This record gives sequence, structure tokens and C-alpha cells, in this order.
Amino acid sequence: MISMTNVQKHFGDLHVLKDVDLEVPAGQVVVILGPSGSGKSTLCRTINRLEPIDSGEIRIDGKLLPAEGKTLAALRADVGMVFQSFNLFAHKTILQNVTLAPMKVRGKSKADAEKRGMELLERVGIASQRDKYPAQLSGGQQQRVAIARSLAMEPKVMLFDEPTSALDPEMVNEVLDVMVSLAKEGMTMLVVTHEMGFARKAADRVIFMADGAIVEDDEPETFFTNPKSDRARDFLGKIL
Ligand code: ATP
Ligand code: MG
Repeated sequence: MISMTNVQKHFGDLHVLKDVDLEVPAGQVVVILGPSGSGKSTLCRTINRLEPIDSGEIRIDGKLLPAEGKTLAALRADVGMVFQSFNLFAHKTILQNVTLAPMKVRGKSKADAEKRGMELLERVGIASQRDKYPAQLSGGQQQRVAIARSLAMEPKVMLFDEPTSALDPEMVNEVLDVMVSLAKEGMTMLVVTHEMGFARKAADRVIFMADGAIVEDDEPETFFTNPKSDRARDFLGKIL
């Protein structure tokens, strides 16, 4: 579903993605771990071309991600992304937040978009807040709206970049629960997170990045109990 081949990316002199190869089959949940600055966010951002790459290839569902144009817009719509900051539209209601893009980009009617939008708000446990504005919701609620908003586009892939790191501790689980259920339903997911509970519960694979390269790629249990590299051992020593 996601296929990256020989992907190289520089920021000036900084070689931030070093010959990255990554295959994520449909339905797989991959957690990306690694120290700060190792390139995790950059890797995610290249997958919907928020960051252009220098060379190599990225395919979504077999289709080559182009640098620009209509195909790019179409492929981008297939890749949902949830960030640390929720980025909701502040002047739109919760329901409007989830119906806007499906109407504009997918050409859905208002009635269809609202029907689907309410199903998704139901699913993330927030339907009763439909007429409120983002600022009236807690961080955990806002992040669940952000997930519903992404899902409203019927994406083939969901990318999460530290979706719970800006939340108060008591709100982390309500967001992780939504992600776990999404994973169980077979969504293809790439998740940057330091939440080891999520990795253990929901991930099929853990990828460990260091200095712009994928250093380890293993099943969660193997990675956590028996990391191969010193870098990974070092990292796990600090976070576990
Ligand atoms: P963190 O865990 O802190 O979020 P990360 O693994 O997500 O780190 P990235 O944000 O991908 O790391 O950054 C990788 C490297 O690229 C870092 O050294 C960062 O300073 C640099 N970098 C990221 N974005 C830019 C940019 N737009 N311009 C220049 N350098 C950048
Ligand atoms: Mg990051």
C-alpha cells in the first residue's frame, strides 16, 4: 500500500533521509520509533508530499506519487494525516470540520457528507459535540475530531505523527483507543509514537530510525525484548 524505494532527502547539507526503503502492505500497522531528529516526521511528510524528495520513488497503492498536479491531489486525498497539533478549522463547527473536505474534494452532497460525518463522530465518541467549535473541546476530543476528519475522506492509508504528545496524560488513552480500533479494522497505518503500549497492542512491525536511516525493522516483541543494534538498545534504555 505504501512503497518507498531508495528515497533520499536533504535539508541543505543535512542528509535527513538516507536511502530509505519501506514497504507497508495493506492492513499493516507500522510504528516508527527513533531519537529526536532522526527523520521520523520528515519520512511521514514525504508520503503525502508535504516534503518533496530529492530522488527515489514513493508509491501509494501502486501509483507513483508525482511532484505536482492532479494525480498528486488525488493521491494526497488517499493519505490521511494526523499531527501532534490538531489543526482543526477554528471557525467551523465540529460537524463542519468533518464534512468540508468530503464536499469540496470528494464532491459529496451535504446530506451524504453529514450522514458519514455523524457516523464517524459517533465512532470516535463525540457526536454530541457536533455543533460546538474546536476551542470548546478538550485536547483529546479535538484530536478525535481530527481523526474523524481524516477518515471522512475515506483514505487508504493513515499517517499519525505523535498524535498524543501534546495531550494531557489523562486524554492519551481516549485517542489511542480510537487508533487501536482503527488498526483492528484493518486500516493501513504508519504511526510515529512513543506510546509503547500502542506499539505492543496494535503494531505489526516496529521500525527504528537513527540519523535518517532505517536501522531496525522487526516485530514489536522482538524489537522490544531483543533489539539488534546498540542505537536501539540505547534508545529503549531511555524510554522504557
Ligand atoms: P522529533 O522526534 O523531534 O519529532 P524527528 O525524528 O521527527 O524528530 P524530523 O523532524 O524529521 O525528526 O527532522 C529530521 C532532521 O531534519 C532534524 O535534524 C531537523 O532539524 C531537520 N529538519 C526538519 N525539517 C526541516 C526543515 N524544514 N528545514 C531544515 N531542516 C529540517
Ligand atoms: Mg517529529
